[in-house]
Amino acid sequence: MAAAIPTELHSIAPDKAVIRVEDVHKYYDLGETRVHALRGVSLEIQRGEFLAIMGASGSGKSTFMNLLGCLDKPTSGKYLLDGIDVSEHDKKALAHIRNQKLGFVFQGFNLLPRTSARENVELPLLYGKHRLSNAQLREKADAVLASVGLQGREDHHPSQLSGGQQQRVAIARALINDPEILLADEPTGNLDSRTSVEIMGVFQQLNERGITIVMVTHEPDIASYARRDVVMRDGLVQSDRAVSQRLDAKTELERIIRSTSEEQE
Ligand code: ADP
Ligand code: MG
Repeated sequence: MAAAIPTELHSIAPDKAVIRVEDVHKYYDLGETRVHALRGVSLEIQRGEFLAIMGASGSGKSTFMNLLGCLDKPTSGKYLLDGIDVSEHDKKALAHIRNQKLGFVFQGFNLLPRTSARENVELPLLYGKHRLSNAQLREKADAVLASVGLQGREDHHPSQLSGGQQQRVAIARALINDPEILLADEPTGNLDSRTSVEIMGVFQQLNERGITIVMVTHEPDIASYARRDVVMRDGLVQSDRAVSQRLDAKTELERIIRSTSEEQE
């Protein structure tokens, strides 16, 4: 029988890890062949962490993120999200958990093209259960847009925004449900280096506000803005360590601005 949707998804163990993955395997069945994409991954993430996940192409990063995001289920092993055993829930319940606890940011922004920044940000709330009037909805979307530095751009369509601004809209959309965890797969993959640092600035601010962040990147300097660096290889965690010389995005941005103005002199 399908598991009922819990009305309240309070954490069972609030002081414990917000994410606990135990010996997770994932196979993709492709007719004759079978891809063993995750080969026994175990990982624990505490509330308030900022993780970078690195590793060569094909090492299983996106597969792992899809599992963390409840977009897919492990073939075997256990995934506890905020104390909730994800494997015990059906699709509908997973969608509910996703909506309540998680925000997603992707490399390609994934915004609706002929739709304003505000409407893009409001979108997740239209699916969820909430008691907001249109005016309240708009107020909330505008507040979140302002919090990522997009005040005055609410009515712009994606095509009228730079890549960095589009990614900020996507981050605002991810934040509209007040998620505990932000999952980002190559969020700076389509951005130039300065804009990437700006986005890391947004992430560091969110993390300081208490949001747990898990971010896939293949750029070591981007990983240096996180607090912890996990490297995957062939479907396994190869290394897992604290970032030793952590970069502060605000400081780096000032440095970049200084050096470009010196070049122009
Ligand atoms: P990464 O994000 O690190 O590049 P992926 O998680 O995308 O790695 O892929 C891990 C392995 O699983 C690769 O061998 C890839 O080809 C395979 N894979 C990923 N997604 C699918 C899928 N939907 N169907 C079949 N194989 C897949
Ligand atoms: Mg990938």
